[in-house]
Amino acid sequence: MAAESRADAVQADRDYILQTYTRPDFVIERGAGVYLFDTEGRRYLDYVSGIAVNALGYGDPEVTQTLTEQATKLIHVSNLYHTAPASALARLLVASSPGLDRVFFGNSGTEVVEGALKFARRYARDRFGEGKTAIVACDGSFHGRTMGAVAITAREKYREPFMPVMPGARFARFNDVASLEAAMGDDVCAVVLEPVQGEGGLMVAEHSFLRAARELCDRYGALLIFDEIQCGVGRTGTLWAHEPSGVRPDMLTVAKPLAGGLPIGAVLLSQAVADTIHVGDHGTTFGGNPLSTAVAGVVFRRVSDPAFLAQVRAVASYLDESLQDLAAELSGTVLELRGRGLMRGVRLAGSAAAAREAAQHHGLLVATAGDDVLRLLPPLIIAPTHVDEAIAVLRQVLK
Ligand SMILES: *Cc1c(COP(=O)(O)O)cnc(C)c1O
Repeated sequence: MAAESRADAVQADRDYILQTYTRPDFVIERGAGVYLFDTEGRRYLDYVSGIAVNALGYGDPEVTQTLTEQATKLIHVSNLYHTAPASALARLLVASSPGLDRVFFGNSGTEVVEGALKFARRYARDRFGEGKTAIVACDGSFHGRTMGAVAITAREKYREPFMPVMPGARFARFNDVASLEAAMGDDVCAVVLEPVQGEGGLMVAEHSFLRAARELCDRYGALLIFDEIQCGVGRTGTLWAHEPSGVRPDMLTVAKPLAGGLPIGAVLLSQAVADTIHVGDHGTTFGGNPLSTAVAGVVFRRVSDPAFLAQVRAVASYLDESLQDLAAELSGTVLELRGRGLMRGVRLAGSAAAAREAAQHHGLLVATAGDDVLRLLPPLIIAPTHVDEAIAVLRQVLK
């Protein structure tokens, strides 16, 4: 029965779903805590979290209760009307983000990156007139798949087949101040950066690079946009990944973990930017709906609690020690450790996809970033025993 339903689901995927992903041959049925279970009852320790989404893991009672209660009350009414969950979440986000005063809600990462690009263009036009439209991004960046977001995504494979994408994008080398300076000019309306790069390979922005970006943006009248869609909301051990640098952006994009698995996105804006955006300038049908914003209120309140963040830092430092021991032991296969907090990259001498498949076989789900980097994104609620369990599998498959 279970085997049949598995084969059936896999076959229907192959027959009817557009094949833009390569999925393994099992079918995930449910989750509990930090584990996933397939239709045949096999258990997997989850170091993917739905790509940095399931910060509180699976089946969190408060998330489930809020979701079901809100679903019975109201799911959607559009942005033509006020709803309490969206207003409350906006207040909470602004209170936790010094220098950012307003929120625009969307439904996904790429949608709020598009929003931020439009707001930057609108601001520049309002303040400086026409022609200030260029956007500077970085090598190794990933900002999404729509025409604007993909234009500022470095990897050519994602961008070239769809040309012409949004014009006006150019790239600087990540963590290279001279390269960023060379990319700047009076035509630049925004610089977009991930404080910790996700898809691009888990590179961490140096504080000096973020500070230089701030100074260059101020010098050229450009806005600084931090994309924390993957690295934000506690993932790196602080609420925002840019926090330790002391640099404040003009806009911040947030999405993946914010609503505990429901689709959501948000752009946070400074009042100076917000002042140039008016009624009718931008919109969305589903963005900020009461269902996702009610759940996001729970997730955000829980994750931004200093005690929760201290717990994340503690388990992250244990993961770091364990990875360092592993790297020392397997110095021929583990070439480099990257990332911060519970967003870690392990650069391998061999294929990351092969290691990912082998780990899967041993009951551990991990992601990859490029050809040679394993990407570890466990739920933020993992305990040290879940670190031991993951390291044991990695040791086995990498040795
Ligand atoms: C995933 C991601 C996006 C795009 O988000 P989607 O919800 O997939 O559209 C944008 N920026 C970063 C840094 C991401 O990790």
